[in-house]
Amino acid sequence: MNTSIQIGKIMGIPIKLHITFLLILPVFAYIFSINPPRFGFNDVEPLSLRYALGMATALSLFTCVLLHELGHSYVAKRHGTNIQSITLFLFGGVSSMEEIPRNPKVEFKMALAGPSVSLLIGSILIIIYQLFKTDSAYLRLVWMVGYINIVLFVFNLIPAFPMDGGRVLRSWLAGRMSYIRATRTAAGIGKMFAIFMGIFGLFVPGGLWFILIAFFIYIGASEEEKATEVSVVLEGVKIKDIMSKDVTTVTSGMSVEELVDTMFRFKHMGYPVVDDAEVKGIVTFTDVQKVPREERKNVRISQVMTKGIISLPEDEDAVSALKLMTLNNIGRLIITKEKKMVGIVSRTDLLRSVQLLEQHE
Ligand SMILES: [Zn+2]
Repeated sequence: MNTSIQIGKIMGIPIKLHITFLLILPVFAYIFSINPPRFGFNDVEPLSLRYALGMATALSLFTCVLLHELGHSYVAKRHGTNIQSITLFLFGGVSSMEEIPRNPKVEFKMALAGPSVSLLIGSILIIIYQLFKTDSAYLRLVWMVGYINIVLFVFNLIPAFPMDGGRVLRSWLAGRMSYIRATRTAAGIGKMFAIFMGIFGLFVPGGLWFILIAFFIYIGASEEEKATEVSVVLEGVKIKDIMSKDVTTVTSGMSVEELVDTMFRFKHMGYPVVDDAEVKGIVTFTDVQKVPREERKNVRISQVMTKGIISLPEDEDAVSALKLMTLNNIGRLIITKEKKMVGIVSRTDLLRSVQLLEQHE
């Protein structure tokens, strides 16, 4: 499902808004309009101006979050990392890049670029406010946006994934140990931080926000750890090194009942469907489950198999296989050599290889 819409391009990078962001924007605008002074405009008359100021504040914040992300992207691009898009979510922005540079110095600069932008915007706006210091509602807007930028700066420097501070910490550690150990250590610190924050949230009023953020940090730390582990361990591993070569195949004319027997015999959950040396599709246990038990004798594999097969040449990197499976949400890939099937790679094959290779560390 497409949950983001593109609103334009800056520095050649598509800028997208996620649906959660579109939902939260009017909520923020409304909160700013009904809040009392310093953090809102509930004393402003007429009512229309009050809402206009609320909306203007929300939109300014959105622009600041975007500028923060562009700060990251600018440094990334200068070091040759391609940014595919910037998406603004409920919690802020996410720049999706082809690959996070595994060079600690570049990652350090890149991670710091975003918070630096927030700090710069915040400082300028607060200085402007200090220079004039009247009680104009417009100037209050300047102060609010400035203040929130400083909060964004501080929040993003929390040394935990997925915050920028987590990346700063990792790159600092990576200069002193292997990249994977640096990631594990940084993720561990992030998780500990999240646990303390969650416990703190239990005892303070309004602590629900802390618990939510703690939860978000914990998940982010675990995901970053897992993703790095897999891609670092699989580095340099080719598909042909990990694929299963003796592939049991089935034919499209077989009945689903015969397929179930094959499954019991070979203990695999998915099989390529091959007729006369040509791969016609793939059939898995999930496909079987859709057919009621009593009809399995009469239903052919050709009726239940997935026809659009996704394949990769055997010389590709193992990481690409994982990416392709994740992207298409499938459990196995057909591996080809000169367009002929030579093997199959399943998620289980990949994970088993990761576990084995990790023992070498
Ligand atoms: Zn950032």
